[in-house]
Amino acid sequence: MSNLRFKVVERAFHVKPVDISVPKERPSEYFAKYVFNREKMFKYLPTDVYKKLVDVMDNGAALDRNIADKVAEGMKRWATELGVTHYTHWFQPLTEGTAEKHDAFIEHDGKGGMMEEFSGKLLVQQEPDASSFPNGGIRNTFEARGYSAWDPSSPVFVVDDTLCIPTVFIAYTGESLDYKAPLLKALRAVDKAAVDVCRYFNPEVNKVKAFLGWEQEYFLVDEGLYAARPDLLLTGRTLMGHEASKNQQLEDHYFGAIPTRVVAFMKDLEIQALELGIPVKTRHNEVAPNQFELAPIYEECNLAIDHNMLIMSLMRKVARNHGFRVLLHEKPFKGINGSGKHNNWSLGTDTGIPLMSPGKTSEENLRFITFIVNTLTAVYRHNGLLNASIMSATNAHRLGANEAPPAIISSFLGTQLSRVLDHMEDSSTDELLSLGGKQGMKLGIPQIPELLIDNTDRNRTSPFAFTGNRFEFRAVGSEANCASAMIALNTAVAEQLTDFKKDVDALMAKGEQKLSAIVKVIREYIKICKPIRFDGNGYSDEWKEEAARRGLDCETSCPLIFDQYLSEDSIRMFEQAGVMTKKELEARNEVKWETYTKKIQIEARVLGDIVMNHIVPVATEYQTKLVDNVYKMKSIFPQETAERLSAENVAIISQIAEHTTYIKEHVDTMVEERKVANRIENEREKAIAYHDRIAPMLEQIRYHIDKLELIVDDQMWTLPKYRELLFVR
Ligand code: ADP
Ligand code: MG
Repeated sequence: MSNLRFKVVERAFHVKPVDISVPKERPSEYFAKYVFNREKMFKYLPTDVYKKLVDVMDNGAALDRNIADKVAEGMKRWATELGVTHYTHWFQPLTEGTAEKHDAFIEHDGKGGMMEEFSGKLLVQQEPDASSFPNGGIRNTFEARGYSAWDPSSPVFVVDDTLCIPTVFIAYTGESLDYKAPLLKALRAVDKAAVDVCRYFNPEVNKVKAFLGWEQEYFLVDEGLYAARPDLLLTGRTLMGHEASKNQQLEDHYFGAIPTRVVAFMKDLEIQALELGIPVKTRHNEVAPNQFELAPIYEECNLAIDHNMLIMSLMRKVARNHGFRVLLHEKPFKGINGSGKHNNWSLGTDTGIPLMSPGKTSEENLRFITFIVNTLTAVYRHNGLLNASIMSATNAHRLGANEAPPAIISSFLGTQLSRVLDHMEDSSTDELLSLGGKQGMKLGIPQIPELLIDNTDRNRTSPFAFTGNRFEFRAVGSEANCASAMIALNTAVAEQLTDFKKDVDALMAKGEQKLSAIVKVIREYIKICKPIRFDGNGYSDEWKEEAARRGLDCETSCPLIFDQYLSEDSIRMFEQAGVMTKKELEARNEVKWETYTKKIQIEARVLGDIVMNHIVPVATEYQTKLVDNVYKMKSIFPQETAERLSAENVAIISQIAEHTTYIKEHVDTMVEERKVANRIENEREKAIAYHDRIAPMLEQIRYHIDKLELIVDDQMWTLPKYRELLFVR
């Protein structure tokens, strides 16, 4: 039988791992080879220009035109030595990817020839005609101008023959149309607010940085098998497919030996990532078959996000060289784990103090508790918004599905830290602060100052867990731009730290001692944020009820969760922190709803095609074979015997008929529902219609397709099955 499925399966079985020759140099030698980092700046720029650029990068000083020209000149010299011919502003529009438009370095030389040219003007700012990027109505095509402007805090890098310049992307009228612009504002806000609070303890602190260490989960699928699945090709996930008899129940994949072909891919990816200055460190098999994880050493948040965007496109590219396709979708396969991207987040000062780590002295620990409790309070106040910041049509499949974190935000602290907070809540200030001695104030808490947080005390079901020196925001989707979550989190913490300072200053103005004022306010906050603390099983139904009682946001509908961005609290928070205006938030929500609708719309269309072109024809063909058999049985056996021996086949014939009828009818209904939904003009209402009426039908139809897969002759089935997609490599 010449079935494409068998051809691709056979081919996949015989793919030899690509022999990737590991460079002779060590990682320390080729790390950041393609990055215009400080070392290269020093080498390629005049000393005064270098110094000024460092000031721009470190302190946000203004970049004057004269300097920009010289920087551009140095960059061009470095890049041309690497054989680079083009440059691009590299930005992060409100899609899940990055955008780039390449221009060559060439200009007319005025004498009929060409010369290589790259000016400061071209480095610093461009006006891409980008009217077809999602903009939520901010940019009508008749004023189709947008600006991309260089972000000097993220270094320029080279990919292939192109110099890539990380930029923000904003509208002619100033509104941000990307992830980076609000992210930089959020990081600035948390920096300022945290510095003010730090100075209660350490007056010399001038800057607080947010750090991010992401853990990227992904699936690899052989590219032949992938190409034979229209759903994977067009939607990134399987819309049908019965579970394989074996999947992850033996728990034999997690941390298992990495298959040779996959190791070759990983090595190749890691070398290229290191050359781009991405400090990749960890790799391992994940829980589901053919699922893996990659994690770098954490970096400053803005850079870490650029690196994550870069690595996602690098993964796609490198995977193809190894005959794989990488699936970054949050839930490519039903019945097994989906993929997330844990965001390990912490704050640290320019003086090297990690603010989420306990210290050695009482005062260091009070500072630690201050930042922990403020973070918890921020997460409590904006739990709905944080949920919205990680929500998407694709991540919705993963959340709340008994694997990844539940779709209700709560925070796990572990027994030790919980005990410290409980103790602080119950004790009087005087008890906590005993004045005297050379060390000054002492915190009368038994666990402090020797506060060693046990890192092994973990709760995998918590969406926002404290893990010793950082919080791990686990609900972020594998495909997402981490900036979405990081904008919300850092802004919320900035707002909270600002309020904290106001509260402490108010007490001090009334004559309260500084540390005593801090303790009093913290004690208050510990009470306020209590509902967000949950150390139990986040998957349980009791938790859902309990969370609702505690007033946490328990909404499960993706389009409605987006409403959180437009709540009064969210708008006030974003506006006061100078991160986004109401107009920007509204525009971005339009984009979110529109994207949601389009994703479901595409899935519905693809499923419709699969049904009509694969499932129904194949099922009918098999049914016809059975009918034929039943007839022929009658010609060789007496009627009664024939009926007895054919009963089983007759039953299957009718099962196939029931399933195909259901499928065809419901695909028709789904088309009708789509027509109705498409007439709705309001993007929010349209997304709700797609969520409530169309998305559930995808699942209902799938149920019957998967039943057919079990019935129909394997030889006739055209689409690669789960066992092949997940186990052939
Ligand atoms: P896990 O055991 O949670 O899977 P991994 O080793 O896979 O941990 O990833 C942990 C991530 O957290 C890494 O990127 C690591 O660099 C990062 N990380 C460690 N400490 C901090 C910190 N203080 N702030 C932010 N990220 C951190
Ligand atoms: Mg990990």
